[in-house]
This record gives sequence, structure tokens and C-alpha cells, in this order.
Amino acid sequence: MERTEINSLGEFGLIDHLTRNNETRQASTILSVGDDAAVIDTFGKQTVVSTDLLIEGIHFDLMYTPLKHLGYKSVVVNLSDIYAMNAVPTQITISIAFSNRFSVEALDEFYEGVYAACEKYNVDLIGGDTSSSQKGFIISVTALGEVVPDKFVTRKGAQKGDLICVTGFLGGAFLGLTLLEREKKIYLENPGVQPDLENESYIVGRLLKPEAQKEAIQFLQDNDIMPTSMMDVSDGLSSEIIHICRQSQCGAVIYEDKLPIHEDSRMFAYKLELDPTMCALNGGEDYELVFTIKQEDYEKMVLNENISVIGYITEDIEKTKIITKGGNTYDLKAQGWNHSK
Ligand code: ADP
Ligand code: MG
Repeated sequence: MERTEINSLGEFGLIDHLTRNNETRQASTILSVGDDAAVIDTFGKQTVVSTDLLIEGIHFDLMYTPLKHLGYKSVVVNLSDIYAMNAVPTQITISIAFSNRFSVEALDEFYEGVYAACEKYNVDLIGGDTSSSQKGFIISVTALGEVVPDKFVTRKGAQKGDLICVTGFLGGAFLGLTLLEREKKIYLENPGVQPDLENESYIVGRLLKPEAQKEAIQFLQDNDIMPTSMMDVSDGLSSEIIHICRQSQCGAVIYEDKLPIHEDSRMFAYKLELDPTMCALNGGEDYELVFTIKQEDYEKMVLNENISVIGYITEDIEKTKIITKGGNTYDLKAQGWNHSK
């Protein structure tokens, strides 16, 4: 494989190279890459901003993360935060720092993923910053989005009687991570053995190529449903429900048998002798949305097969419970998710 040293392009040359095919999709993008700052028109909407930092060795492992997937995921996790505000993402900026281990070809792969996410989610890349680092790859993405004035949804509006909903499936990304970490260990001990991930493409995909919940937000808008609270599931469902309850001054009850767990996740959990419910409650990085709605919106919500109603909000401040299939009640624990493995 060809290797072009970044020094051969220089910083400006590199930025030009990385942004040479950059497109503008949003009418609100007045001025994009190439000046001291970008310019955005808000057309009377409110602007939502979110930013994330991703560090090699802490948030991702390049031993099993293809750079293209990493570029895609770096964008998607930020867009997920924008959707979690009930907003629609419009622009991103992306800043990178890398050591001389990285070539122009490596950064090209990373940007291929970035541009694929921009296209899929209809956002514009409008700027960033480029620097060298002594060691490893560092990525910071900032996402902007727009929302009709005062229609943004925070974590603190849940009220007694509201229904708790979650999009998609939970626990898959954690199981994908567990599998890749296991294969990495085997490989390091015995480099001759090639990992076989063919049969587990679902869980591996959940970790390496997550999606943001664009359709769910569209569904809420189309059906005139205004969630009372919402956040994305990045640290694990338990931890997110505890956040919502703390900020909304309420409690919650969820049902084990309502938790959406994909069949492939369930099978793989059994293989490792893990409890699929614990994976769904405590596994991170699923990038689904958890939100609460008024009971009167229930009829509309069940029309969406991708959304599960898993429980309800109580007035018992900060008491968060799960009722198991056997009928026992336990406290939800914020075991969360330890990004450093
Ligand atoms: P400054 O010296 O003001 O920081 P730069 O030379 O770093 O400007 O950036 C020039 C232009 O390129 C700016 O529009 C900036 O937002 C954009 N840019 C810089 N790095 C990146 C990157 N990694 N990806 C996308 N755009 C970038
Ligand atoms: Mg700069």
C-alpha cells in the first residue's frame, strides 16, 4: 500500500487535500471551510451545539477499528447528541491531531467515513483544526443542529405517569466490544490465528458502525409527539434513566421483559454466559434514544415498531426499579460504562 508522508503536503496542503471534495447541503451554511470561521444563518430557529473528544487507547482501539468506521462513528456519536435534544443536525466541525505514524492515506480513509456520515445525515463539514501529536490519534467533533424555538427536549421534564420509551435494540455494542477484545487477546498471544467474526457481524457492526436515530426524531415530529424528556444511550440504559430521574426529580419502573434485545445479541450473551438483560441495562455505546412521553401519546407510539415502551415514571424521587420476568423488583444501578475498558 502506498504511503504519502503528511510532511510532503504541509498543513495547508493537507487541509486542502482532505476537504477538496467537500460539499455543502444545508441552506444555512453561508460560508464553509477556508476562512477564519464558518458562517451560519439560523432562519429564526434555535441552535443546538454539542462537542465530543475521542482519544486513541481510551475511546477506540485501532487494532480492530478500521479508520473509515472510526470517521463515521466520530460524526455519528455527535449527531446522536443533537437528535437527543429533539433537534436536526446541520453542520459539524472536526479537529484532529496525529503522530507521524499516520500517513495521508490513513487520514483519507478516516475522512471517507466522515463524508459518508455527512451524506447519510445531510450535514455539512464546515471547518476544524489540524495538529500533530506526540503519540496517537485525537479527534474532536462539534455538531450544530437546529430546532423550532423552544421545541428542544432536555433531561428534566419527565413527570409521574409518563411512559418510558427506547428506540432500537440495547446491549449489542457492548457484546461487540467484548468479542473484539477477546479476539485481540487471542491474536496478541498467538498472531498466527486469524479472528473469525463472520457469524457475529451484527454485534460487531453495532460497536464499529453505530447509527444516530434520525428516523425516530422524524417520527416524533410527523406524529406531533413532544417527549417530556430525552437523552441518548451512550453509557447504558440504567445510567441514562437514573440521569433523567435525578434531573426530573422523579422515579422510574421498567420491565425486564420489555427490554429490546436483538436475537443475535441474546445468543452471543448466552455463549459467553452473560445475562442479556445486564448487557442491555449496562452496556454502552448503543446510541439509541431513551425518552418519556405523556400517556395520551401511547396509541401513536405503538405504531412505530422500532420503539419499545419499557416502563413508566413514578413520583418516588430518584427511586429507579426494574421488575424481572419472575416478578421480583430490583434497584437499577448506574454501572454505566467504562470507556477505558
Ligand atoms: P486557523 O489558522 O485559523 O486555525 P486553519 O489553517 O487551521 O486556520 O484552517 C483553515 C480552514 O480549514 C478553516 O476553515 C478550518 O476550519 C479548516 N480546517 C482545518 N483543519 C480541518 C480539518 N481537519 N477538517 C476540516 N476542515 C479543517
Ligand atoms: Mg487551525
